[in-house]
Amino acid sequence: MYRALLFSLLLPVIFLTGCSNTGTVFKDRFFAFGTLIEVSIYGVDPALATRASAQIEQDFLTMHSNWHAWQPGALSTTNEQLTTMQPFTPDPSVLPLLQEAGRLSQLSNGLFNPAIGNLIALWGFHDNALPAGTLPDTAAITTLVEQAPDANDVTLTGTQLVNHNPAVSYDLGAFAKGYAIDRAIERLREFGIQNAIINAGGDLRAIGQHGDRPWRIGIRHPRQNTILASLEIDGDTSVFTSGDYERFFEVDGKRYHHIIDPRSGYPADKTTSVTVIHDNAATADAATTALFVAGPDDWVEIARNMHIGLVMLISADDIIYMSPAMQSRIRIEQDTAVEIRLSEPLS
Ligand code: AMP
Ligand code: MG
Repeated sequence: MYRALLFSLLLPVIFLTGCSNTGTVFKDRFFAFGTLIEVSIYGVDPALATRASAQIEQDFLTMHSNWHAWQPGALSTTNEQLTTMQPFTPDPSVLPLLQEAGRLSQLSNGLFNPAIGNLIALWGFHDNALPAGTLPDTAAITTLVEQAPDANDVTLTGTQLVNHNPAVSYDLGAFAKGYAIDRAIERLREFGIQNAIINAGGDLRAIGQHGDRPWRIGIRHPRQNTILASLEIDGDTSVFTSGDYERFFEVDGKRYHHIIDPRSGYPADKTTSVTVIHDNAATADAATTALFVAGPDDWVEIARNMHIGLVMLISADDIIYMSPAMQSRIRIEQDTAVEIRLSEPLS
């Protein structure tokens, strides 16, 4: 357990190189959403950057506590209220988040499913510590899959929610970090900041320019301690990756990781990593999870539904699937031969 945890801490999904040779760079780091958040602000007065960054940190801590499904806060209270099956008005901080998560879930044909909190908890991935390495009861998994909790089971009238499926429990682990990054970028813009990067444990959104060279981002190999591919970003871009190496345990040599296929109740096993580039971080976050579950056979259909044009998916049999638009953005950094399969253009 500790080895797996250490592994995920020592090997960020990405590296960043290239930096500003011109203007002032301000950097700040803090922990939120279970990861290190790094804020980089370019070309503004340090006093303004310090004020903006302090506000961002405070916002992140508030969002983390509001949107954590399993620690006391607005979302966990909402989850408790859902179990009553009675109409209630949730804390205003959760409503827009739940609406956007529901919209993206629908576009993903339910493969990104923010209502499967009970399944996540059954596997033990709700906890900050990794599960002890025991498999959940198969009958309990089957029951939850048959109950088919879905964001559509919760209806909104005015500001009131009512739940129609007792199996619904929200877990926004696949989405809230991206949503929070979008809110933080809005906040930076309110401060008049136009050039910045918010990097949350390797998932990031950049706005504006970052000196005289674009940033180069490395995407790690899902099975090796190496960089598989790199890409350059500039302007308003989010890059998110979901991988089966982030949180997992092994039983009898088989890996059980934290991205669950809502149709089977088990970890999705045809994919090892998905990277998405999109202008919006919340959409990119939900999409990486949905495309991971969709796997090599169905990712193109789901990417089109979700209006995602730039995707790289590594399958469990080590084939790299990409959209043509992604291929023109990315450079494979491996010396050994890799098989690449290009899809039709996504848009
Ligand atoms: P990500 O790393 O963005 O793919 O998010 C993974 C996290 O999202 C997990 O730790 C769970 O909390 C949650 N999760 C797992 N499977 C799903 C799924 N199919 N849909 C929505 N959330 C999920
Ligand atoms: Mg995600």
